[in-house]
Amino acid sequence: MKKKLVFATNNLHKLKEVSAILGDKIELLSLNDINCHTDIPETSDTLEGNALLKAKFIHSHYGINCFADDTGLEVEALNGKPGVYSARYASDTHNSEANMLKLIQDMEGKKNRNAQFRTVISLILNENTYQFEGIIKGQIIEEKRGLSGFGYDPIFIPEGYHKTFAELGDEIKNKISHRAQAVNKLCKFLFSIQ
Ligand code: IMP
Repeated sequence: MKKKLVFATNNLHKLKEVSAILGDKIELLSLNDINCHTDIPETSDTLEGNALLKAKFIHSHYGINCFADDTGLEVEALNGKPGVYSARYASDTHNSEANMLKLIQDMEGKKNRNAQFRTVISLILNENTYQFEGIIKGQIIEEKRGLSGFGYDPIFIPEGYHKTFAELGDEIKNKISHRAQAVNKLCKFLFSIQ
């Protein structure tokens, strides 16, 4: 029988990305699949803390192996901001356009444009906890470019490229991204213990 693992998300984009890497060896379940409709609180001030909070919530309420992720954009000239608050940088409405606009404004006149996306995944498997991290370094540009992706993609150029994530498109982004790197580490670990 296939092993079941909950991914504490209902984000179809993320589920698709992770399923593609996991293949058919593990049955991946979403929050909808386990009838969890709670908005799990993300009250920590670190990505590690939030990923763990979400994984612990599912494990303690549903008693099933699970993992959860949290991602932030860390900008050097802003001392790591927006970081863990990336989704609600401009306001609590989680509006990507407003978040990007605020970041563009906050970066006005800054010479150091270095930034990184960082994803942390917390896995709870058979009562043990593991964390996996994925990082992609790059630069914040002054104006939006490109239409694909989501969040801050139109203003982030990954290292080694001349196009933003939003110009590069999903296929390239999903090979090199912070999330892909963290997910690959998770999958490698899961396969190594099978
Ligand atoms: P989450 O933890 O994956 O929900 O990400 C938190 C916030 O970080 C999102 O609301 C986006 O603003 C931003 N973010 C996460 N991943 C990406 C990405 O791949 N591209 C651009 N922005 C992202």
